[in-house]
Amino acid sequence: MQDVFDIADDLGPAKVLHIHVPDAGLKAILVVDNVAAGPSIGGVRMAPDVSLTECARLARAMTLKNAMAGLPHGGGKSVIFADSRMPEVEKQRLIRAFATAIGSELQYIAGPDMGTNEQCMAWVHDEIGRSVGLPRELGGIPLDQLGATGWGLAHAVKAALPFCDLDLAGARVAVQGFGSVGYHAARFLAAQGAVIVAASDSRGTIHRPEGLDLGALSRLKTEGKSVAECRDGEAGGPGDIIDIECDIWIPAARPDVVTEQNADRLQTRLVAEGANIPLTTGAEEVLHERGVLVLPDFVANAGGVICAAMEYHGATQTAAFDAIAEKLTHNTTQVLEAATNEQIPPRIAAVKIAKERVRKAMATRRWGGMV
Ligand code: NAD
Repeated sequence: MQDVFDIADDLGPAKVLHIHVPDAGLKAILVVDNVAAGPSIGGVRMAPDVSLTECARLARAMTLKNAMAGLPHGGGKSVIFADSRMPEVEKQRLIRAFATAIGSELQYIAGPDMGTNEQCMAWVHDEIGRSVGLPRELGGIPLDQLGATGWGLAHAVKAALPFCDLDLAGARVAVQGFGSVGYHAARFLAAQGAVIVAASDSRGTIHRPEGLDLGALSRLKTEGKSVAECRDGEAGGPGDIIDIECDIWIPAARPDVVTEQNADRLQTRLVAEGANIPLTTGAEEVLHERGVLVLPDFVANAGGVICAAMEYHGATQTAAFDAIAEKLTHNTTQVLEAATNEQIPPRIAAVKIAKERVRKAMATRRWGGMV
């Protein structure tokens, strides 16, 4: 296994914990990257094959996302090495064992991630009283159901419009991944006059230049069908969404869907990254050269973690959504102004701003808040 000091820098990680509880069949890693701004918040991923390096990279991504969002929290991440499709009773046992093992790690607040959900967070909460993304009955704000990330994304898009000479009224939007993030982003943008011309899921794409019926697409998804089964529009394969001519392209599905090899196919003015790392660094460079504005993931998709942090501090749903709107508008504008002034890609500007915030927080803390 790679030595964590090989990947450490001046920001972190502050702590790496390897957890092994043979009786519970638990093997897990916790990476607390940086806690200068406050206890770290980050998801618990359940997957059989995540390396320590990957976990550390994900924890760093949370440090930058939380700093960018102006939250009083640093970044962390944990991985439980297991197949998340195990029977529920086994999953509960494993999650409870994990929660007990991190009980004294007060600098880490667990949230849901791939392979875990609000039920898992309820078990963590029951064991140690410290988790976010809880069911409503425990004071949670159901962020996926309400569309917290899509709400934030819609505000990031609105703030970006002046930087790419676009007007939301009549702007053509294509959404890759009609799930929680994609559907709600489409819904909020359509409510303000944008026209959703295409949507896709893992099974296909549906395209209708005059605008899609989002209610009909949502019903298809509830019935377990693909958006491509919608009768009102032209259906295609999942990859076809990349070729749709539009003004705003929203990747809200998986990592690395646009690479240097296919970035040329995108015909859009603005890309708003809803998914985490949907574009490779090379693809972002190609698009920047072409004058396409790309809103980086950790700026544009922070709605979910802002909602989670607000939940942790006891805020209401309304307060959480107001905070998301305010923060995403302000941060997107700040990043794009810096990128324009310094003539650098938005991601470089955003990383610079986020790291500056972390370093300023570190300067206020004994030992830089690293222990
Ligand atoms: P989800 O499971 O609700 O939806 C994902 C959608 O993507 C599904 O409709 C699925 O069919 C589709 N999809 C999968 N592979 C595809 C492909 N190859 N082409 C087109 N569509 C494909 O997930 P979600 O919660 O909406 O999250 C989407 C992405 O955003 C993930 O990468 C997630 O990590 C990231 N993200 C989510 C949140 C959040 O609040 N949920 C916050 C930040 C980032």
